[in-house]
Amino acid sequence: MSMTRRARGFRRASLAILTVCALATIGAAPLSRPTSVETATARELSVVRRDPLRLRAFLREMPKGGDLHNHLSGAIYAESYLRWAAEDRLCVSTTTMSIVVCNGTPGEMSAGDVFQNAAIYNQIIDAMSMRHWNAALNGHDHFFATFGKFSPVSTRTGEMLAEVTARAAAEHVSYLELMLTPDGTPARLGRSIGWDPGLVSLRERLLMAGLRETVIPQVRQRLDSAESRQRELLHCGSAAADPGCAVIVRYIAQVGRSAPREVVFAQMLAWFELAGAEPRIVSLNLVQPEDDPTAIRDFTLHMTMLDFLQRRYPRVPITLHAGELADGLVPPEALRFHVRQSVEVGHATRIGHGASIMNEDRPFALLRELAARNVLVEVALSSNEQILGGNGKQHPLEMLLKYRVPVAIVTDDMGVSRSSHTNELAKAVEDHGVDYSTLKRMVRNSIDFAFVEAPTKARLKTDLENALAVFERQHAAATTLKNNGRTRM
Ligand SMILES: [Zn+2]
Repeated sequence: MSMTRRARGFRRASLAILTVCALATIGAAPLSRPTSVETATARELSVVRRDPLRLRAFLREMPKGGDLHNHLSGAIYAESYLRWAAEDRLCVSTTTMSIVVCNGTPGEMSAGDVFQNAAIYNQIIDAMSMRHWNAALNGHDHFFATFGKFSPVSTRTGEMLAEVTARAAAEHVSYLELMLTPDGTPARLGRSIGWDPGLVSLRERLLMAGLRETVIPQVRQRLDSAESRQRELLHCGSAAADPGCAVIVRYIAQVGRSAPREVVFAQMLAWFELAGAEPRIVSLNLVQPEDDPTAIRDFTLHMTMLDFLQRRYPRVPITLHAGELADGLVPPEALRFHVRQSVEVGHATRIGHGASIMNEDRPFALLRELAARNVLVEVALSSNEQILGGNGKQHPLEMLLKYRVPVAIVTDDMGVSRSSHTNELAKAVEDHGVDYSTLKRMVRNSIDFAFVEAPTKARLKTDLENALAVFERQHAAATTLKNNGRTRM
């Protein structure tokens, strides 16, 4: 723990200087001349930003475009997982505070009974999320350990889709790119074929073993059935349809970066093939802790694999977790190159997190490079604060904006974080002084940088502009009414 605290001290000192430099340029000139309703709305945000309750009410109603970095299993609130465990007649281990298959082990309790025991109920919700977490303790391990605690029920993809789309609609989010692991075949096939440093022959052997023919129909069938269950739960197509039915969803296939290299390659190959054949799968991403020992050891190898495969599937865009690190979490050498290599070798056109970007070699040149290449950074403020420690103000968001790196605010794992789309925007305003025009630019980025097919993107863009215009007109009208009221008094 002392290492963590020391690391935070260094970060605080260095980032304080950067923050002072950056503040002056936050929300620098918008792309187009603001309209009067936009100016009125911006003025209202500048008033409510110091009032957390009014700020959240304002941001909740604001059209937010898309959420480009959202792990489906981490987006679900623990209360839902517990409910599904009770429906499936599963148990809770009061020793590990995990959902388990009942097998008579001491300390087990039926998940249904947990709902009658408020003390255990609260303990397990805390264990399966960051609720009530003491920020002075090791958030990294607690955060990542939650996934194993609800894994027996994080297979209910239809129910999970219903939860996240209904919530997105309620918060005026129109598009989700959800990360999930679509199929277990590539991992099994990768293990059975084993490693071969000759990637050409390794790819051929995996394809000869039926990777493409097995995975694509299985994933299609799985997505069809999950989406059908989602539509059933949300009453889509009926008069009682939940607004979540209108949220557009696309998927990003996950590669487990802490797996053996043969498994990593087989997953990458499968997801490139899949993204080329199934339009709902739009990209792939390396997941699991970036500081995992295997992930650290194989980082450059993984980038080489992506370089090899991207040349064979150039139409599949790539987004990569990179820079989800902090001083002291890993040796300094590992902090120096992950973002740059992800872009230059791994062909990432979007970067997830980038929180440790200022620790990379020649960081200012890297910022300029990201801006020049138009690489978007997916900024997850709550997740970074909880996993990497320190407080939100230490995030390099202001530096990214100062150097005109495209940014979108994302939720990462809102169920584990106990956050929401609205809360992440609120953190950008409260912790980083983001103003209305910057917020609006981020919201527009969340559609501009989406991997969805062009006709749907065009529709999402039009819908977003219309929704923003309505939002601003309403705020301008409300401001005028208030001012008139004041004049009369
Ligand atoms: Zn993530």
